[in-house]
Amino acid sequence: MEYRRFGSTKRDVAVIGQGTWHLEQADRASAIAALQTGLDLGMTHVDTAELYGSGEVELIVGEAIAGRRHEVFLVSKVLPQNASRRGTLAACERSLRRLKTDWLDCYLLHWPGEHPLEDTVAAFEALQQEGKIASWGVSNFDVGDLEALALIGAGAHAVCNQVLYHLKQRAIEHAVLPWCEARGLAVVGYSPFGSGRFPGARTEGGRVLAEIAAAHGATPRQVALRFLVRRPSVFTIPKASTPEHARENAGAGDLRLSDEDIARIDRAFPRGRSRSLPVL
Ligand code: NAP
Repeated sequence: MEYRRFGSTKRDVAVIGQGTWHLEQADRASAIAALQTGLDLGMTHVDTAELYGSGEVELIVGEAIAGRRHEVFLVSKVLPQNASRRGTLAACERSLRRLKTDWLDCYLLHWPGEHPLEDTVAAFEALQQEGKIASWGVSNFDVGDLEALALIGAGAHAVCNQVLYHLKQRAIEHAVLPWCEARGLAVVGYSPFGSGRFPGARTEGGRVLAEIAAAHGATPRQVALRFLVRRPSVFTIPKASTPEHARENAGAGDLRLSDEDIARIDRAFPRGRSRSLPVL
């Protein structure tokens, strides 16, 4: 597994991490085994949220990481409707309880909402001072949202922006990604397999991925994940409900694509023209 510096934190974080959305719908033992297999193989960046399964997924994650909390770069998210100053503090306490931990490595605002950003940031800063979170960031922030954040004094303390990024959705490459890179924010790409809509083997793009994969003794999904983290600021968090899927995804951590491979994928999945940030 490759690790790289996560924004302005002093942590090196696995480039391929683990998502957990909808994990409560999987067989519980399988979901826990998937997360633990992922940890065994170095996918120590675990992404969750109070939203997922209305807290049920944080309970599953808590069970999966029990006894090995120090291995994990644990991320959770506050819902925008809870992200007032007091609401954020309370939401964090609930997440910590469900995750059975004393701290989060990073705490995110899930998407921009109705509460003043200043209040959410003030809560994040307070949580950080208390040691309940080691860092904080945002999610689904377009350039305008990031600009608004930058105008808040402590806004510069954000360490990442988690955004939609997969082969068929590359809009962040136009504006969001350059903005984050210029200011040292990590970019965490979510839904790297298009949330289950991975390019089919019979499509033109699918064939390109298969050819490149065969040349590396890898799989099309591993090639896709590696392509997504080709820039040094980017991380990705595929979600897997089985140990087999987790094992395959972790295999992308050591894959290396040539410049020619990357150019072929770039042509097969053009980034398109839209500059605005899509959300799932
Ligand atoms: P995803 O990771 O793009 O795709 C997940 C789907 O791919 C599942 O159906 C999974 O099946 C399947 N899969 C995973 N590994 C596989 C493999 N090796 N072979 C075949 N199929 C495989 O979708 P996602 O869950 O939407 O995104 C990933 C994570 O990003 C989420 O879980 C969440 O943590 C985060 N996220 C954040 C936001 C946000 O607003 N910040 C939004 C969406 C997602 P199985 O479940 O059967 O393994």
